Amino acid sequence: MNTNLPKLKIGWFYPKYLNLYGDRGNVEILVARAKLRNIPVEVIEIDLDTKLDAAFFKEINLVFMGGGPDLDQQKIYLDFLENKGNHLMEFLNNFGVGLFICGSYQLLGKYYKDAYEKILEGLGFLDFYTESPSSSEKTKSKSRMIGNIIVEVNSLLLNEPVFRSHNKLGNTFVGFENHGGRTYLSKDLIPLGLTKKNQGNNDLDLTEGVFYKNTFGTYLHGPLLARNPHFADYLIAKSIKIESLPHSAELEKFDTSVIVSAHEKSKKLKR
Ligand code: GLN
Repeated sequence: MNTNLPKLKIGWFYPKYLNLYGDRGNVEILVARAKLRNIPVEVIEIDLDTKLDAAFFKEINLVFMGGGPDLDQQKIYLDFLENKGNHLMEFLNNFGVGLFICGSYQLLGKYYKDAYEKILEGLGFLDFYTESPSSSEKTKSKSRMIGNIIVEVNSLLLNEPVFRSHNKLGNTFVGFENHGGRTYLSKDLIPLGLTKKNQGNNDLDLTEGVFYKNTFGTYLHGPLLARNPHFADYLIAKSIKIESLPHSAELEKFDTSVIVSAHEKSKKLKR
């Protein structure tokens, strides 16, 4: 058993606002799976009035932000851009680990035009934009994208050595999507994967999510990390920089038969 592993320090942004369809479960899974390996864990909740500076980002090694309805995205986005954004971008550019689900993923791009036709400026960290069909455009073919989703993970991630050594489940991520926004990646961006069932980023191409350095944006709720324990372990391992630790190239394994079967059963769920 590994001893003296570094602490997993999770910065959880806007838990009161961005927490749809069980997204908080992602934090619970990270905490539980770290504790099972005797990795010390701390979760720091970051709210609208939390003052952040560069020093704060030296104290955390994983950022998590969940999804949210348009009205809650409207409540937080200015604080996110004006008070948190620059330090967050520096952290992510320096290979800090970040997981952003749905409504928060949308805020990493250039803008999000919501269902009320309000334009929420995004961080502009990555070159993409998101648009929801307005109520006038909402026809059968342009409604919300809702359902169980299966994603074939990008081979660049599958072949990343730390991912490979923690991946006992194969090449899929499974989850649940429910969003109006359609995200369009610039051609230079790498998607997290390609959808094999349901929609992902939009209804024009098969892309799902985005993947840049150690930043991951995705439409997968579920919660994502409960249904995809291989990804949870990967994020923990990257956050504590397992590849640079002596004698600890991998997190300790434990029995995940129930969890594995949850992942496998998710692949068979109907719409
Ligand atoms: N409000 C956004 C949309 O509908 C995000 C929803 C979500 O986070 N599930 O596209």
